[in-house]
Amino acid sequence: MNNYFVILAAGKSKRFNSKIAKQHFVYRNKEIIEHSIEKALNSKLFRQIIIVTNNLNRFKKRKYPKLIKVIKGGKERSDSSLKALKYLKKYKPKNVFIHDAARPNFSINLLKKIVKNMRNNKAVVPIVTSKDSIKYKVKNQIFNLHRENSLLTQTPQAFRFNELYNLAIKEKTNVNDEATLFLNQDYKIKFIVGENSNNKITYLDDIKTSKTFHGLGFDIHRLIKKKELFLGGAKIPFHSGLKGHSDGDVILHAITDAILGALRRKDIGTYFPNTKKYKNIRSPKMLKPIIKVLYSLNFSINNLDINLICEQPKVSNYRNKIINSISKLTNLNKNLINLKGKTVEKLGLIGKENAIACEVIISITKYD
Ligand code: ZN
Repeated sequence: MNNYFVILAAGKSKRFNSKIAKQHFVYRNKEIIEHSIEKALNSKLFRQIIIVTNNLNRFKKRKYPKLIKVIKGGKERSDSSLKALKYLKKYKPKNVFIHDAARPNFSINLLKKIVKNMRNNKAVVPIVTSKDSIKYKVKNQIFNLHRENSLLTQTPQAFRFNELYNLAIKEKTNVNDEATLFLNQDYKIKFIVGENSNNKITYLDDIKTSKTFHGLGFDIHRLIKKKELFLGGAKIPFHSGLKGHSDGDVILHAITDAILGALRRKDIGTYFPNTKKYKNIRSPKMLKPIIKVLYSLNFSINNLDINLICEQPKVSNYRNKIINSISKLTNLNKNLINLKGKTVEKLGLIGKENAIACEVIISITKYD
């Protein structure tokens, strides 16, 4: 295992519109570069992991294991790559992997595949084909390129150290990747299938992030005669209805509170107090404005799970009706709504059929 892993992180990321350099931008709970460091480390395939940076200060306080080295980079990518190769020469590596810090999403499996292919090859480069149609411009003329013949090279790329070192030291122009050096000399490269998820982060919107929140709702109302029963906005034939300042729809109240919880916006009573204005209000009228706020804030609902706690009516008889109604009111696909019926062994207020309770959990996500 005479492999060394170089992470190039000295770029200025001009196209990445952020105050923080791209490699240090937080993505999926850690800095972009840390994803590569961690995976190279966890793979246990490398004697050393070399970080090439122009911001040495930033790494000073980090407590890395000994096999991680931080060295100063150069002006261009190829300068940084050459600096790493010069640094490594004294260790007499057999293989060197060169990787761009801007690709945090490769898998350890890909590393293993590259190592395996390095047994019989002097250069191994992962490639993917383009999803977009590609045009090629020469002066003022634009040509079509066959998509299936257009190969996009990714990193990590692996090379026999000596071969790459000798090519890099002689190269006078700035190359975009090390595979270019090999191709320019007609050296053989073993191309292997890369990973579509291993895309290079170039622009800030390449890493759209999402935020997920959960909300909990609970409600209980007393059952009384001579009142219509509404559950989830649907009218349910029953001898009693739910007492309340409104129509007493425990499901819609619990859903409304769950949404407010996920939005961190207090509770249903804050917006619909027991005042004259809201006397006998139908519960969809309370839910709808809250749903509107939810969607206007760019959230989407992932799922809604409901426990209806009562002895009667039997939930299974009305499940579809209730789910259909909630689906309409929330503009949510029926497959994302689950309704469970729960009895309480004839215990207490609910068990004596004097009340119905409901609890709801909701998950919502906002995409940037
Ligand atoms: Zn209520």
